[in-house]
Amino acid sequence: MVELLKLEKFSFGVGDRFAHQAKAQLQAFILASQQGAEVIPVWNKSNREHVIVGSEPAGARAAVEVAVKELRWQKPYHVDADHIQLKTVDRFIPHSDFYTIDVADWIGKPADAKAVEAFIKRHAELVGQISIPRIEWPFQTTAAEVERIVGKYLLAVQEAGKIYRHIAKIKGERNFITEVSMDETDSPQTPPELLLILAAIADEKIPIQTIAPKFTGRFNKGVDYVGDVAQFEKEFNEDLAVIAFAVKQYGLPGTLKLSVHSGSDKFSIYAPMRRALVRFGSGLHIKTAGTNWLEEVIGLAEAGGDGLALARDIYAGALEHLEELCAPYASVIDIDIKKLPSTATVAGWSSKQFTSALRHDQGNQAYNPHLRQLIHVGYKIAAKMGNRYLDALEKHKDSVARNVTTNLYERHMKPLFVGMGKTPAREAAIPAQEATAAL
Ligand SMILES: [Zn+2]
Repeated sequence: MVELLKLEKFSFGVGDRFAHQAKAQLQAFILASQQGAEVIPVWNKSNREHVIVGSEPAGARAAVEVAVKELRWQKPYHVDADHIQLKTVDRFIPHSDFYTIDVADWIGKPADAKAVEAFIKRHAELVGQISIPRIEWPFQTTAAEVERIVGKYLLAVQEAGKIYRHIAKIKGERNFITEVSMDETDSPQTPPELLLILAAIADEKIPIQTIAPKFTGRFNKGVDYVGDVAQFEKEFNEDLAVIAFAVKQYGLPGTLKLSVHSGSDKFSIYAPMRRALVRFGSGLHIKTAGTNWLEEVIGLAEAGGDGLALARDIYAGALEHLEELCAPYASVIDIDIKKLPSTATVAGWSSKQFTSALRHDQGNQAYNPHLRQLIHVGYKIAAKMGNRYLDALEKHKDSVARNVTTNLYERHMKPLFVGMGKTPAREAAIPAQEATAAL
């Protein structure tokens, strides 16, 4: 049998909305590799982004191929059809080898009663006490609870199966990487829910390699995590334990790992995530997109002259169309309008004032997360500028590339992956009580 196209242990999703930064992004992976951190690039772009920007999956793939060739990248790389559904997947199929099957819309919709009944019968192991290695307290579930969870998620997983088989029929079963995403929904999935979802995915025979649950806390666009970091860490550790358990229990691919749809820049959970990955020896896929577009604007502003003027115009346009731009992202932004500077104020800003407000440096007193979130959702303004924006990216490509590479490498890869092998054994050690916890 043909071998499954495997996703490497550490992979990092980089969005490139205007298809101009693949080289600058790849440069960050090269820097990481030079420091001994093997992180594989995945270029992710959703249908929503393509529609807003007016781009095509073929163009996204072409930009990646040019960068890989020019920088002589010899390791794997992938192109992710991000957040696809049955109705949007087809145009990605010739160009993607990674598919993020988004079934959030199906969560909570009732599955066929007979299918629910059959699932519960087949999975008696999910009722009662479930002991999972390295989770301190066994989960306790009742039949009623399992029925509730199955009722909530079974239809969504069945839909994922449909989409997977649709892609497989065209591309061939083992020629692509499959992710299932459930992050764009209202309530987070608990670790026991994740286990049940994975059991259902195994039943559908989806060779899933990454799963994107919704985590506890707020993942606002382009800004840091808002929530209880300790609670996040506990759940993240439990999710890793659940995944390792489900791989064995249900025969899922050994490469299965968590995919964190970060909404960019969740710096305060990077250290807890890194600790957990070391502790479990687990892999990780993390997705960002908007952070790269924001660095384009920072690079333009930093260049001064017409670059700065363009950055100011983007802000002015975003402020003017605030409601329209924020509406599709309402659940993932928290903008206090009173904290947004006026167009006139920003028109008087220097390069330094503009970049200080926008750059994600929480130590800088001039950093303004409200402005940053607004520009994050404002890429439609740049898309509408058409060639004026794209020409500026060309003209100021050095300034832009420097910011794109530095951001990815310094603020993301270094804290997450670089020097991981050198983590002291004490940190990597598993507490004795957990090491001895048996099935
Ligand atoms: Zn997502």
